[in-house]
Amino acid sequence: MLIPSVGEKPVKSLGKIYDCTLKDTAALQATSEELGTWLTAVDKSGLPGKFKAWIYQHGILPRLLWPLLVYDVPLTTVECFERKVSCFLRKWLGLPRSLSSIALYGRNNKLKLPFSSLTEEFMVTRAREVLLYRDSSDVKVSSAGIEVRTGRKWKAHEAVNQAEFRLQHSELVGTVASGRSGLGSNPRPHLIKAQGKERRQLIQEEVRAGVEEARCTRTVGMRQQGAWTRWEEAADRKISWTELWRSEPHRIKFLIQSVYDVLPSPSNLLRWGLAENPLCPLCQSAGSLEHILSCCPRALGDGRYRWRHDQVLRVIAEVISTGISTSKHQQPTRQSIAFVRAGEKPQQCRSQAGGLLATARDWQLKVDLGRQLKFPENIAVTTLRPDMVLVSETTKQVVLLELTVPWEDRMEEAFERKRAKFEELAGECRSRGWRARCNPIEVGCRGFVGQSLIRALRILGVKGQHNRRAIKNITDAAAKASRWLWIKRGDPWTTKAT
Ligand SMILES: [Zn+2]
Repeated sequence: MLIPSVGEKPVKSLGKIYDCTLKDTAALQATSEELGTWLTAVDKSGLPGKFKAWIYQHGILPRLLWPLLVYDVPLTTVECFERKVSCFLRKWLGLPRSLSSIALYGRNNKLKLPFSSLTEEFMVTRAREVLLYRDSSDVKVSSAGIEVRTGRKWKAHEAVNQAEFRLQHSELVGTVASGRSGLGSNPRPHLIKAQGKERRQLIQEEVRAGVEEARCTRTVGMRQQGAWTRWEEAADRKISWTELWRSEPHRIKFLIQSVYDVLPSPSNLLRWGLAENPLCPLCQSAGSLEHILSCCPRALGDGRYRWRHDQVLRVIAEVISTGISTSKHQQPTRQSIAFVRAGEKPQQCRSQAGGLLATARDWQLKVDLGRQLKFPENIAVTTLRPDMVLVSETTKQVVLLELTVPWEDRMEEAFERKRAKFEELAGECRSRGWRARCNPIEVGCRGFVGQSLIRALRILGVKGQHNRRAIKNITDAAAKASRWLWIKRGDPWTTKAT
């Protein structure tokens, strides 16, 4: 049998093809072409866009990582591949080309999408490779000095060193509080104690965190697409594959476009050179998305924002009514003395676990929808009309809930304004012997619930599955109504049409 030379027939060994040049250039070229073929084939498949995106994540990405691991690939090549992928992802999801790739792949974004960045996966994979060689228990491997080559722009071993340094540094500094969570609420495993796989895992996660940090720095500098970095009070939203499957494509599309302000608003159309005037079709002032969805005086006068507010209010009222009727079927929680045996930890107080709704059986909910709400005169005399009033006569408790559907950047402001407005009324109730609470709640107009709403639901005792469903329904109601306002932005407003 004749054995062909490597020049005549390239040799494949351990998944890697060697040709006569013994260089990886040809293999990389082939990988690039293959990626192009795959993407085009998926693109032409006639499947729905989200299905195409799914194929990238679960079919193309894992297949692509193998050649990127076995050949010497510079990072710049991988970035070039990623740009190709991002182009198709945007196309499949109906998003404009101006949308930054951070929107697609960011892990700490307010809106998290289920796609992985090729560059990030590449970096983590190569960092793992460095660790596998360097920390190998086989001395022959660890002392061989195998170099993981990834071009000049980014070097895997440097990234690993940096990640280790950062981990050691953070151990020296100790646990610091992040955000509003208390000290020690996010305990981190220690690098010093970690061994083998756990250690590698920690370092890889740190490499990932480094990538995310670089993304974050870039985002903060972006005025429009980075506005979400200033949404302090808005809770994060994560779009899972399940949610992506279930939602109608135009809703996800609107959500992403509105969060990053890349909808064709008059201001954006002017910026993109597609229109000559940037004016709001209703009031002739500057027509940014913010103006259309939350600041237009004409839209306000038409009652458009009121209509959206009531759509959201209706859903929240349903959530609370359901909460009341569920807690009616449960045993009312009584304060009882909990005995703790020596050496045992005290269990959480029961009435706290049940929430406010479980403390009485005669909760009445009044909502300012349809018929105007009249504040119960036996509690206090006022002309103020909170959106919702929850009353329990027997236990003399009253809860004022006031909803705002603001532009996400202004949630905190709305909260303070509403609190100032209603705190006095709550004080008057208290002076008449009622236990009164005043809870302003915000749901951002793009469907991001405020921490205030999450707190309020927790206080009331809407938990677990009920809580998740409630948040989802509230979120959907706000986003759906805003989308309708967006569609109708140039049309006359009749509530009958809705
Ligand atoms: Zn206007």
